[in-house]
Amino acid sequence: MTKSIVIGGGIIGLASAFFLRKKGMDVVIIDKGEPGGECSSGNMGWVCPSLSDPIPAAGLIKSSLKWMLKRDSPLYIKPSIFPSLSPWLIQFWKYCSEDAYQKGYTAGLELSRNTLRLFDELEQDGSLEFEMHRKGLLFVFLDKSYIDEKLDNYSIVERFGLPAPAAKSKKEVLEIEPALSDAVAGGIYLPSERHVRPETLTKALKDWLISNGVEVLSHTEAMGFIQEGDKISGVKIREKTIEGDHFLVTAGAWAGLVLRQAGLHIPMTAGKGYSVTISNPSIQFQQPLYLGDSRVTISPFHDSVRIGGTMELSGLNTNLDQRRIDSLKSTAAQYLRASVRGDEQAWCGMRPMTPDGLPIIGKVPSLNNLFIASGHAMSGISMALSTGSVMSDLVSKGKSDIDLAPFRLDRFSSKKTHENQKKTVNM
Ligand SMILES: Cc1cc2nc3c(=O)[nH]c(=O)nc-3n(C[C@H](O)[C@H](O)[C@H](O)COP(=O)(O)OP(=O)(O)OC[C@H]3O[C@@H](n4cnc5c(N)ncnc54)[C@H](O)[C@@H]3O)c2cc1C
Repeated sequence: MTKSIVIGGGIIGLASAFFLRKKGMDVVIIDKGEPGGECSSGNMGWVCPSLSDPIPAAGLIKSSLKWMLKRDSPLYIKPSIFPSLSPWLIQFWKYCSEDAYQKGYTAGLELSRNTLRLFDELEQDGSLEFEMHRKGLLFVFLDKSYIDEKLDNYSIVERFGLPAPAAKSKKEVLEIEPALSDAVAGGIYLPSERHVRPETLTKALKDWLISNGVEVLSHTEAMGFIQEGDKISGVKIREKTIEGDHFLVTAGAWAGLVLRQAGLHIPMTAGKGYSVTISNPSIQFQQPLYLGDSRVTISPFHDSVRIGGTMELSGLNTNLDQRRIDSLKSTAAQYLRASVRGDEQAWCGMRPMTPDGLPIIGKVPSLNNLFIASGHAMSGISMALSTGSVMSDLVSKGKSDIDLAPFRLDRFSSKKTHENQKKTVNM
């Protein structure tokens, strides 16, 4: 039996391990902390194939400029990060065009084609219990003028078998979600999208892996690779080496650091986002909501509600800035009949971000058995099952039914810095 080593146990690593095991492979998954404990935990849990568009878009630079140095805005760039981040930012700004956006959106929709079916199958499997809601998503706006623009943008989804988003009047929006206030001018309803409580999904996958013979190693950091010719033969963890036939890097925002140890440079940065989960909330919500003018989102779960959003480029760190949590709550209050009260738990997580907004999925061209699936930005939960399924096809058959050309690593100028020889590289 061939053995796959998965490095990084966030939602992408767990889903990849799940599909590899389903194909009968021997699998080991390692995580430097607790699997599911980083960006895959406190996020909003939207499973939203219609929203598979990349972050870089035409007009984004203009709107970002007014936000980016304000700490409580939807996008904040820490001034001291500019020198180290500028190569990434220059590439990102290059992708802020209509052409790149449409190409990226099409690629994202293609990758997400099977998303809803795969979530149905996971639920029907019966051996995984997780919280999933089929309520669609409701976008709401204080300024009505955004509605037509958004509707036009999302009309492409019909080509991928998804129902067209529908415009909703103020009256209709208030009927769908009575928690909204009179300030809301109207909205858009996307009927087939869903949301999950992400912590329940990662836990269900982890439990399934353990009971199906996968070795799940927590607090086990990949610290270097052992390379023989054009292959990796092992990954170093402290004084030990784990050997395997295939190696998958699913380390999210840390994927750049991990791959550097194999001599590869990829443009990956962290886009920090925040959420606050309010248990036993004073308001019951019917719907997940996207507060469109301010890019804040609300996800109702059993017994709690989560408010989240913001994008902070400040490097790899999980420092929690309370001002951003306060800003999420005050923004949400503008759209609601009353502010939400209850027991609050603040969180932040690092979205793995590439400059073109698409994940990197595929085999590393210069090494025969090293694969990567990282960089899912805002869509890691949504794209996890399709990515995991694709990864298991790539490892087992060397190909996938989905066109992976837009996700190739070598779309960025990657460098291989050492030659084919047996060597150990430490992280
Ligand atoms: C506020 C917010 C809201 C969001 N809402 C949504 C949403 O509604 N829907 C959606 O689809 N997405 C959403 N996202 C994005 C989603 O959370 C991410 O895309 C996703 O969690 C990324 O998963 P991952 O497995 O790539 O990374 P992670 O979950 O960060 O996992 C990477 C793992 O790799 C491990 N690791 C790192 N280095 C090493 C090493 N050297 N050795 C071993 N292990 C290592 C880490 O410990 C970590 O557990 C949101 C994100 C934020 C911040």
